[in-house]
Amino acid sequence: MNLENKQLRELFALANKIGNKRYHKLTHQDFENYRKFDYWRYVNGDYECGTTQESKDWVTENSDGYCPICEQHYSVKGGKSIDHKLPRSQYPWLSMDFQNLWVICRSCNQEKSDMNWYEYEHYIFIHYPDWYPAVKAVRPKSLLHSLKG
Ligand SMILES: [Zn+2]
Repeated sequence: MNLENKQLRELFALANKIGNKRYHKLTHQDFENYRKFDYWRYVNGDYECGTTQESKDWVTENSDGYCPICEQHYSVKGGKSIDHKLPRSQYPWLSMDFQNLWVICRSCNQEKSDMNWYEYEHYIFIHYPDWYPAVKAVRPKSLLHSLKG
C-alpha cells in the first residue's frame, strides 16, 4: 500500500477502519501501557503529573526548544508537552509507542486535542496553511503501515 499517493479523504477512511478493528482487540498489555504513559509523561513545569528522569531525557533528546508546528519557542506558548500523534483515546495501544510521540507546545496540543491525525491535517490545512507542510512532513506513516495487520 502506498500511503503517499492517497488523498486525505481516503487516508481518513483507512485510519478509521484500521483503528476500529484494532480497538476491539485491545489486550491487557495495551491497558498497562496506556496507564504507564501517565507516570512517564513530562509536561514542562508541571511536576504534579508524575514525571520520570527517563521521560525528561526523552523530551530533551526529541525537542530543540521550538514547537515543530507553530515554530514558536515553547516558553512563549505555555511550555512543552508530549503529544500522541494518533490520539490515545482512539489508539490506546500506541500510548507508549515512541514513534507516536512528539514534543509540541501546550497551545498546539490543546488545539489538536483528540483529533484523528487526518482530521488534524485537514484542520491545519484550512486554518493555518503556512503550518501545513511541517505537519504533513511528520505524518506518522510507519505507524499507519504497522496498523494494517
Ligand atoms: Zn505550537
